[in-house]
Amino acid sequence: MPFELPKLKYAYSALEPNIDAKTMEIHHSKHHNGYTSKLNSAVGGTPMENKSIDDILKSLDMSNNALRNNAGGYYNHNLFWEVIGPNCGGAPTGIIANAINKAFGSFEDFKKSFTMAATSRFGSGWAWLCADSNGNLEICSTANQDNPLMPGECGKTPILCIDVWEHAYYLNYQNRRPDYINAFFNVINWNEVEKRFKVVS
Ligand code: MN
Repeated sequence: MPFELPKLKYAYSALEPNIDAKTMEIHHSKHHNGYTSKLNSAVGGTPMENKSIDDILKSLDMSNNALRNNAGGYYNHNLFWEVIGPNCGGAPTGIIANAINKAFGSFEDFKKSFTMAATSRFGSGWAWLCADSNGNLEICSTANQDNPLMPGECGKTPILCIDVWEHAYYLNYQNRRPDYINAFFNVINWNEVEKRFKVVS
């Protein structure tokens, strides 16, 4: 079993009232756990079981649906839990704030564009903030469990993401995806986003 479900660094209840404990528990212990075990089944006994998850995504055969859905689901949720947390949110500062201002004009403009990407993703999927080795930032969105590293996507490295599958918000927000997206900005861990930006750039 090469891939393991990561433990969260905070309690399921730690993000309330922005994300409720029951949603967090089901999302992590059921949904993410399911992607993890199905990913292990998909790579077991193949040369991919010794590859990193990043390498699996970058070299993915997009017609391999079991691997595409579960490798994406595994990576996407790993990042999601890391870039949110308690006592977070607000506007970023420092290096990541400078990069956001350079790319989007201001934090408010970034917020508008990221919100638009998350709101307008039809059905299930994700919105992303990605970076490249020159420090350029880009917002994109993917369907289902697809990921920016997969063939045909933006190709930059994700440093922030929001899950807009209904399972990420429906218990508390029902059909009100925009309210969930708005609350998500209260839990973004900008220190972690900046750390990842520095590694990529
Ligand atoms: Mn999810």
